[in-house]
Amino acid sequence: MSARVALRCPRGVEAASPTPVTVPIPDAVRCTHCGDVHALVPTSVNARGGVQACTACGHPELYTQKDFPRALGIAIVVLAALLAPFTYYASLGVAALIDALLYHFAPNVVLCYVCRSEHRGFPPTPKHPRFDREIEERLKFGERAVMGKPMRRGGTADAPEPEH
Ligand SMILES: [Zn+2]
Ligand SMILES: [Zn+2]
Repeated sequence: MSARVALRCPRGVEAASPTPVTVPIPDAVRCTHCGDVHALVPTSVNARGGVQACTACGHPELYTQKDFPRALGIAIVVLAALLAPFTYYASLGVAALIDALLYHFAPNVVLCYVCRSEHRGFPPTPKHPRFDREIEERLKFGERAVMGKPMRRGGTADAPEPEH
Protein backbone atom coordinates (compact mmCIF):
# COMPACT_ATOMS: atom_id res chain seq x y z
CA MET A 1 0.00 0.00 0.00
CA SER A 2 1.54 3.26 -1.05
CA ALA A 3 1.86 6.22 1.25
CA ARG A 4 -0.79 8.87 0.92
CA VAL A 5 -2.16 11.93 2.65
CA ALA A 6 -5.73 13.07 3.18
CA LEU A 7 -5.46 16.86 3.17
CA ARG A 8 -7.95 18.71 5.37
CA CYS A 9 -8.81 22.05 3.82
CA PRO A 10 -7.43 24.84 6.07
CA ARG A 11 -10.70 26.69 5.47
CA GLY A 12 -12.81 23.79 6.73
CA VAL A 13 -10.82 21.48 8.97
CA GLU A 14 -13.89 19.36 9.68
CA ALA A 15 -14.85 19.11 6.00
CA ALA A 16 -16.21 15.70 5.11
CA SER A 17 -14.14 15.12 1.97
CA PRO A 18 -10.38 15.54 2.37
CA THR A 19 -8.24 15.98 -0.75
CA PRO A 20 -6.17 12.87 -1.58
CA VAL A 21 -2.43 13.46 -2.09
CA THR A 22 0.00 10.72 -3.08
CA VAL A 23 3.74 10.45 -2.48
CA PRO A 24 5.96 12.09 -3.67
CA ILE A 25 4.20 15.07 -2.12
CA PRO A 26 3.80 17.88 -4.68
CA ASP A 27 4.49 21.53 -3.83
CA ALA A 28 0.80 22.35 -4.02
CA VAL A 29 -2.54 20.67 -4.66
CA ARG A 30 -5.97 21.82 -5.76
CA CYS A 31 -8.39 21.38 -2.86
CA THR A 32 -11.55 19.35 -3.51
CA HIS A 33 -13.27 21.22 -0.66
CA CYS A 34 -12.76 24.92 -1.54
CA GLY A 35 -11.31 24.67 -5.06
CA ASP A 36 -8.24 26.77 -4.21
CA VAL A 37 -4.64 25.66 -4.56
CA HIS A 38 -3.00 24.95 -1.19
CA ALA A 39 0.77 24.84 -0.73
CA LEU A 40 2.14 21.60 0.69
CA VAL A 41 5.43 20.86 2.47
CA PRO A 42 7.22 18.04 0.58
CA THR A 43 10.32 18.47 2.80
CA SER A 44 8.29 17.08 5.72
CA VAL A 45 9.00 13.62 4.31
CA ASN A 46 12.55 12.61 5.27
CA ALA A 47 15.11 10.79 3.10
CA ARG A 48 13.81 7.39 4.16
CA GLY A 49 10.22 8.29 3.34
CA GLY A 50 9.14 8.82 6.97
CA VAL A 51 6.86 11.63 8.07
CA GLN A 52 8.99 14.10 10.03
CA ALA A 53 6.29 16.81 10.17
CA CYS A 54 2.90 17.49 8.64
CA THR A 55 3.12 17.36 4.85
CA ALA A 56 0.15 19.70 4.58
CA CYS A 57 1.09 22.56 6.96
CA GLY A 58 4.63 21.69 8.10
CA HIS A 59 3.74 21.55 11.80
CA PRO A 60 6.16 19.19 13.61
CA GLU A 61 3.65 17.74 16.10
CA LEU A 62 1.61 14.74 14.96
CA TYR A 63 -0.13 11.85 16.67
CA THR A 64 -0.80 8.24 15.76
CA GLN A 65 -4.08 6.43 16.12
CA LYS A 66 -5.70 3.26 14.80
CA ASP A 67 -7.42 3.73 11.47
CA PHE A 68 -10.52 1.99 12.78
CA PRO A 69 -13.89 2.74 11.21
CA ARG A 70 -15.82 3.70 14.35
CA ALA A 71 -19.19 3.50 12.57
CA LEU A 72 -18.50 -0.15 11.72
CA GLY A 73 -17.62 -0.91 15.34
CA ILE A 74 -20.88 0.67 16.53
CA ALA A 75 -22.88 -1.16 13.84
CA ILE A 76 -21.47 -4.50 14.99
CA VAL A 77 -22.39 -3.79 18.61
CA VAL A 78 -25.93 -2.67 17.68
CA LEU A 79 -26.46 -5.76 15.55
CA ALA A 80 -25.16 -7.97 18.37
CA ALA A 81 -27.56 -6.31 20.83
CA LEU A 82 -30.50 -6.92 18.50
CA LEU A 83 -29.54 -10.56 18.11
CA ALA A 84 -28.79 -11.05 21.80
CA PRO A 85 -32.25 -12.39 22.85
CA PHE A 86 -32.10 -14.99 20.07
CA THR A 87 -28.54 -16.17 20.69
CA TYR A 88 -28.65 -16.42 24.50
CA TYR A 89 -26.45 -13.29 24.45
CA ALA A 90 -23.58 -15.13 22.74
CA SER A 91 -23.75 -12.49 19.96
CA LEU A 92 -22.43 -9.87 22.41
CA GLY A 93 -19.29 -11.89 23.06
CA VAL A 94 -18.79 -12.51 19.35
CA ALA A 95 -19.18 -8.80 18.63
CA ALA A 96 -16.61 -7.89 21.28
CA LEU A 97 -14.19 -10.39 19.74
CA ILE A 98 -14.74 -9.06 16.20
CA ASP A 99 -14.25 -5.48 17.41
CA ALA A 100 -11.03 -6.44 19.21
CA LEU A 101 -9.69 -8.20 16.11
CA LEU A 102 -10.62 -5.33 13.79
CA TYR A 103 -8.90 -2.90 16.13
CA HIS A 104 -5.81 -5.07 16.45
CA PHE A 105 -5.32 -5.42 12.70
CA ALA A 106 -6.32 -1.86 11.80
CA PRO A 107 -3.43 0.09 10.27
CA ASN A 108 -2.11 3.27 11.86
CA VAL A 109 -2.98 6.74 10.70
CA VAL A 110 -0.83 9.76 11.65
CA LEU A 111 -2.71 13.02 12.16
CA CYS A 112 -1.57 16.63 12.46
CA TYR A 113 -2.57 18.43 15.68
CA VAL A 114 -3.04 21.67 13.77
CA CYS A 115 -4.73 20.85 10.46
CA ARG A 116 -5.87 17.23 11.07
CA SER A 117 -4.47 16.07 7.77
CA GLU A 118 -4.12 12.27 7.78
CA HIS A 119 -1.00 10.35 6.77
CA ARG A 120 -1.42 6.69 5.83
CA GLY A 121 0.97 3.99 4.64
CA PHE A 122 4.21 5.77 5.58
CA PRO A 123 7.17 3.89 7.13
CA PRO A 124 6.77 3.39 10.93
CA THR A 125 9.77 5.65 11.68
CA PRO A 126 9.94 8.30 12.88
CA LYS A 127 7.14 7.23 15.20
CA HIS A 128 4.71 9.81 16.52
CA PRO A 129 3.12 8.95 19.91
CA ARG A 130 -0.60 8.67 20.50
CA PHE A 131 -2.78 11.76 21.03
CA ASP A 132 -1.60 13.98 23.89
CA ARG A 133 -4.16 16.40 25.34
CA GLU A 134 -1.37 18.64 26.69
CA ILE A 135 -0.06 19.31 23.20
CA GLU A 136 -3.59 19.97 21.97
CA GLU A 137 -4.16 22.49 24.80
CA ARG A 138 -0.90 24.34 24.21
CA LEU A 139 -1.72 24.69 20.51
CA LYS A 140 -5.20 25.93 21.33
CA PHE A 141 -4.30 28.38 24.09
CA GLY A 142 -0.74 29.33 23.21
CA GLU A 143 2.73 28.72 24.66
CA ARG A 144 1.93 30.72 27.77
CA ALA A 145 -1.12 28.67 28.66
CA VAL A 146 -1.03 27.31 32.20
CA MET A 147 -1.86 23.87 30.86
CA GLY A 148 0.24 22.13 28.29
CA LYS A 149 3.94 21.44 28.07
CA PRO A 150 6.43 23.26 25.84
CA MET A 151 7.15 21.82 22.43
CA ARG A 152 9.74 19.11 22.29
CA ARG A 153 12.68 19.95 20.07
CA GLY A 154 11.93 18.52 16.65
CA GLY A 155 8.26 17.99 17.45
CA THR A 156 6.79 14.57 18.12
CA ALA A 157 9.07 12.52 15.83
CA ASP A 158 10.26 9.53 17.92
CA ALA A 159 8.98 11.19 21.11
CA PRO A 160 8.03 8.90 24.04
CA GLU A 161 4.36 8.02 24.53
CA PRO A 162 2.47 10.42 26.86
CA GLU A 163 2.37 9.15 30.47
CA HIS A 164 -1.30 9.85 31.05
ZN1 LIG B 1 -9.28 24.18 0.54
ZN1 LIG C 1 -0.86 19.97 9.47
